[in-house]
Amino acid sequence: MISNVSENRKTLSFEVFPPKKEGEFEKAFEVLDALGKLKPDYISVTYGAGGSRAGKTIEIASYIQNTLGIDAMAHMTCVGSKREQLLQVYRELKAHNVTHVLGLRGDRPKDMSDEQFAARDFEHASDMIAFLKENTDLHLAGACYPEKHFESFSMETDLNNLKKKQEAGAEFFISQLFLNNDCYYSFLEKAAKKGITAPICAGIMPITSAKQIGTSITLAGSSVPKAMADLLATYGENPDEMRKAGVDYAIRQIRDLRENGVEHIHLYSMNRPKTTAEIVAGIA
Ligand code: FAD
Repeated sequence: MISNVSENRKTLSFEVFPPKKEGEFEKAFEVLDALGKLKPDYISVTYGAGGSRAGKTIEIASYIQNTLGIDAMAHMTCVGSKREQLLQVYRELKAHNVTHVLGLRGDRPKDMSDEQFAARDFEHASDMIAFLKENTDLHLAGACYPEKHFESFSMETDLNNLKKKQEAGAEFFISQLFLNNDCYYSFLEKAAKKGITAPICAGIMPITSAKQIGTSITLAGSSVPKAMADLLATYGENPDEMRKAGVDYAIRQIRDLRENGVEHIHLYSMNRPKTTAEIVAGIA
């Protein structure tokens, strides 16, 4: 496992996404070079829900691991994958020295038929994590939700399912983004009571444009606290000021987390090195 996470030393890590088109790899490598200079403990790379673009995730993860010399974590989703396809991705990751995987269920792709969905090999992320634990030598992590996953009836149910991921072999967790630290502290308390002992990395996304509330935040199911709503009302129409205010909000959020004993911060970098660098400088 990533040693600073397993030993509960402070960590800062980033999430990136692979380019959508072939011609965009050079630009993606420039982004990674810039992020690499910020010396994160690891960089995670997202994966298409259906697994159709797995090759791109592998290529980006390989660059992080082998060219930048930083631990790479490849995300893998199982909703659209058969067991053999997951093993094939594992073999390719292994060939590129990538040994860390964030095991996710993913959301049902729009073009997946009812028959395909019913015939899927893995129902939940915990099933996939158990399978990978049994059949590979990967280090596995899972996702968690400070404001509960949108399909869960209650936080209690969601935490019971999180415990199953831990029992299946997840060595640590990365949280969904949140804007309200009090929700996160309450989640940590409840998770500890449930017996979640694996380290948890707090997912922070800087809100640098009003548009993000309608996309990332709504999709993530995270609540918008009054302090953020006020920022949007004041700066939402002014892109430069909004970017600065969003960076400042993320810095204050992370400082408060650190002051309250949160060791692991995972920044959703949105492939934006400038914004990420400003946040890293602001929390130093
Ligand atoms: P699960 O752990 O399977 O949970 C989904 C729902 O099922 C929850 O409500 C849970 O409580 C319930 N559940 C879980 N286990 C059981 C069980 N054994 N019995 C009954 N109910 C159960 N998506 C992508 O497509 N690509 C990505 O790269 C990606 N990266 C992400 C990174 C992070 C850090 C996070 C937080 C999310 C990411 N997602 C990504 C989104 C994720 O795929 C969705 O949130 C998806 O809806 C749930 O995935 P999961 O792995 O949490 O699923």
